Amino acid sequence: FFLTFEGPDGSGKSTQLQLLHTLLAEMGIESIVTREPGGTAIGDAVRGILLDPAYGEMKMETEILLYAASRAQHVHEVIMPALNEGKVVLCDRFVDASVAYQGSGLPGDLDAILSINRFATRQLVPDRTYMMMVSAEEGRGRLNARAGIHLDRIEARDLAYHQRVYEAFQRIAEKDASRVLKVDATKSIDEIHTNVKTDFLTYYHS
Ligand code: C5P
Repeated sequence: FFLTFEGPDGSGKSTQLQLLHTLLAEMGIESIVTREPGGTAIGDAVRGILLDPAYGEMKMETEILLYAASRAQHVHEVIMPALNEGKVVLCDRFVDASVAYQGSGLPGDLDAILSINRFATRQLVPDRTYMMMVSAEEGRGRLNARAGIHLDRIEARDLAYHQRVYEAFQRIAEKDASRVLKVDATKSIDEIHTNVKTDFLTYYHS
């Protein structure tokens, strides 16, 4: 099973990924947690280029291609081998993030983003996606509350950018409702975990 977690920055994806990972281990189901951009040595190097403002202004086309490049390495080096070994893969962000961030946050060409990503992933599509919904304002507030953590190049973009990203995630969830489950990420960590767990178990046993 290939599960992805999506949603605005500050939506609590990483916490929920870890909780599901722990639950699966308790149930004796082998799983891996991975994230993008990154997840491989090459991907981590690309992540550094993508997120570090020190490189100066990055062109939109470059940003689209670098996310796809990191994803390609991740799919072929980590995700596919784990799926082939029968493991559950829990992945922090995937193609939906490019559709939302580069396709709506930035005015990227959506058809180009989709076809570049089909090439990068050899058409791998998640079995289930948890869309952690929290407004751009609240997500931003949570990030700011993390003491000592600086915003990365993308997080530092203005609120209007993050609002477009949020709306794009909403549209993806509605358009692809058979794959994507919208999760109310304003609830408590426990309640969100229960939602994800219930859905996963239903899906896993079906
Ligand atoms: O999910 P995580 O916080 O690790 O993502 C790192 C950064 O990359 C975030 O600022 C996120 O918004 C950004 N991102 C992006 N486009 C993607 C995937 C992630 O702008 N396709």
